[in-house]
Amino acid sequence: MKYYNLKDKQENVNFKTAAIKSQGRQKGLFFPEEIPQFNEEFIQNLHLYSDEEIAFKCMKDLIGDEIPPEILKTITAETVSFEIPLKKINERISILELFHGPTLAFKDVGARFMSRCLSYFLKDQDKKVTVLVATSGDTGGAVAHGFYNVPGIRVVILYPKNRVSDVQEKQLTALGGNISALEVNGNFDDCQNLVKQAFSDESINSALFLTSANSINVARWLPQQIYYLLALKQWKQHENQDPVIGVPSGNFGNICAGLLAYFRGLPAEHFIAACNENDVVLDYLKNHQYRPKKAIATLSNAMDVGDPSNFTRILELFGHQFDHLKNMISGYSIDDESTLKTIKEVYEKYEYILDPHSAVAFAAMEQYLNDNPGKKGFILGTAHPVKFPEAVEKAAHIIIDIPESLNDLMKKEKKTVEINADFEELKRFLLKINQEQ
Ligand SMILES: *Cc1c(COP(=O)(O)O)cnc(C)c1O
Repeated sequence: MKYYNLKDKQENVNFKTAAIKSQGRQKGLFFPEEIPQFNEEFIQNLHLYSDEEIAFKCMKDLIGDEIPPEILKTITAETVSFEIPLKKINERISILELFHGPTLAFKDVGARFMSRCLSYFLKDQDKKVTVLVATSGDTGGAVAHGFYNVPGIRVVILYPKNRVSDVQEKQLTALGGNISALEVNGNFDDCQNLVKQAFSDESINSALFLTSANSINVARWLPQQIYYLLALKQWKQHENQDPVIGVPSGNFGNICAGLLAYFRGLPAEHFIAACNENDVVLDYLKNHQYRPKKAIATLSNAMDVGDPSNFTRILELFGHQFDHLKNMISGYSIDDESTLKTIKEVYEKYEYILDPHSAVAFAAMEQYLNDNPGKKGFILGTAHPVKFPEAVEKAAHIIIDIPESLNDLMKKEKKTVEINADFEELKRFLLKINQEQ
């Protein structure tokens, strides 16, 4: 399958190049040249297919023969090798729990697929590949676990000192091995700037084979479609109407994967873009004008994005038809106070504990369903509540049971190298580890 650059349609690359380069010229995102349709029989009979078969069928037309089928089957099976259950919260709202993977957040799905694709594509590369990534929290852990012990690859993660949660920090720093964590004296923007400088620095790029693992990479974006199919398979076991789908959104990669699946033939009644106070896309839905803003810090910090990168892919999917887009997507902005109130109410009424991101989606879904009686739907549960214990305790005074796997992790030692937000320090570090290994 060919992918074109949304900023320069002359640039056409195959899946492998798109996955290795992440972005095209002028930092443009890659987009598939065709939208391959799901077979109707397949969609009608999802219950007859195993999760592994669904994952493989979902991905194969988007990759073509660039990965041999037996290998792609292994990769897709490993992508969904943890449970992804759809649970009913009440009569009208279910939740797809995407947080049973190694770092307890949905980003594990994309990171697992991407790490395995890169490891296949780069297996004959004699230079070691360095994956360089800046994180505000969840991305780093998912990438670290996705690439842990993958031969030929080392990972360097930059994160802002004292600005990620304890669990997130341990997920970044306790693995060791081929994963290095740099604790930066600065904020997330500083981390991201350092990474950008490294990608454009000649001496680094001639010494190291650098690649990125950010969420705009096609190998992280596309596999997120898989769980919309897995949700539908479970949904159809007890519902006979098409679902409204509510997605907690920040960079809009997750909802964009759902929309792509919809354009390929996934039945869906409507999509809800559930945002916190960072509401650029909602403004666009209201007045057809897109104006990036500075991100505001909220309780659902993985959604604190002021200029969502995947928005351009959504426009492309809808062929820039504003009316069509507006009919298919509703946006809601939920503030921190309502997020806490939602966590409390859902716990008291249904004994279900939501994390702040999923709570934003629940509140948005409730509002939509109140205005649209007779409809039903599911939200994507993007993180385990245990990753955000302070918010959950504050909302509902509940102390959450810590899963076994997390207890073991929390006992491990944190291994980091502290650097200032100074490019020369990053450069010295990168050139040094390159000599050591
Ligand atoms: C990254 C993240 C989101 C936002 O997903 P996008 O694809 O960026 O819209 C939502 N919830 C959690 C827990 C996340 O880590």
